[in-house]
Amino acid sequence: MSQGENGKSEDRDLPWTVLRLLQWTTDFFRSRGSDSPRLDAEILLAHARSCSRIELYTSYAQEPTEEERIAFREMVRRRGSGMPVAQIVGYREFYSLSFRVSEATLIPRPETEHLVIEALDRFRQLTEFRSGHQCVDIGTGSGVIAVTLAKHLPNTKWVATDISPRALEIAIWNAEQHGVSDRIDFVESNLLDKVTEPRQFSIICSNPPYITEDEFTNLEATVKEFEPKSALVSGPTGTEIIQQVIGLCEDRLMAGGFCILEMSPMIAESCMELAIESSLFSEVNCLRDLSGHRRLLSMQRIA
Ligand code: GLN
Repeated sequence: MSQGENGKSEDRDLPWTVLRLLQWTTDFFRSRGSDSPRLDAEILLAHARSCSRIELYTSYAQEPTEEERIAFREMVRRRGSGMPVAQIVGYREFYSLSFRVSEATLIPRPETEHLVIEALDRFRQLTEFRSGHQCVDIGTGSGVIAVTLAKHLPNTKWVATDISPRALEIAIWNAEQHGVSDRIDFVESNLLDKVTEPRQFSIICSNPPYITEDEFTNLEATVKEFEPKSALVSGPTGTEIIQQVIGLCEDRLMAGGFCILEMSPMIAESCMELAIESSLFSEVNCLRDLSGHRRLLSMQRIA
């Protein structure tokens, strides 16, 4: 970034303080269409300075070192060309935990935190009558769902599957980082194809690929060009994989157990129908995210 690009000649000689770098970069990211330009700038500058975001707020007047500015400038350039912030810094916060991500994993989204909250609520219902639960996260990606739930539910055991060995490497790293790798069995598998044991689970969770080919072509470049297509796209209708997971519940979800799936509001109606038509569930609920969109399908198997 060159000094004076904000157009005010009297600014030219001002020092590049933390605050000024943040302001300039926020304007730059905004002009590039970022939804969260200030947050992006803060995460990148904090990363360049090896500090927390909070620490930036108390160092607004400081001038970053030359080395920090060079590192920051390179990250700003990459973000400006569309690369997601999480991939630039290599991690993303999810449910107050830090998760490593790579170009092989979907970047965890805040919407998926609703799935975690719903699973925690449902689990409390289950513990009323049983203990020692076996749970599964299908299509674990970076491992966010299995790792977060294993961490919050100390007496659960997990299977986490993914079709991508490169995603599983990241998920295993995250499980180790959060001290739950002894309770999660990572399996390279399409859905549950390679998982023979356990036969049945108390909870089946998944944030499966659920967008259509058409929706994919209209996605913003920062998603379309940088995140794995196989983690996003289901097929022509968007419901293909959700339908398969619902089908699996017949053999693999225990009586009284819960299946909790993320979906898009566009296919909520069809997913509800699939769940009801399966006749497997005593309860089929559709839950909304913070934007009011129908985002989760939460089902209880007939007991
Ligand atoms: N479970 C992971 C997540 O929610 C990955 C999901 C996916 O790849 N579709 O981020």
